[in-house]
Amino acid sequence: MPVIYKCSACGFVLYSFEKVGQDFYGLPTPSELATKLGGRCSKCGNSLGIPKLGNIKLIK
Ligand SMILES: [Zn+2]
Repeated sequence: MPVIYKCSACGFVLYSFEKVGQDFYGLPTPSELATKLGGRCSKCGNSLGIPKLGNIKLIK
């Protein structure tokens, strides 16, 4: 089952993790992901908030 992080404001898929071994880092935590993205949705600019990440939804 893929894990998908979505922006709560626009629904843009910020990151999807399809399977283990996809990259060197494994599944990023929401805070790691927000840091990687500069703390903002790359589409609408909605602040993802660090470390408060209620904006990011984890779908399994
Ligand atoms: Zn967004």
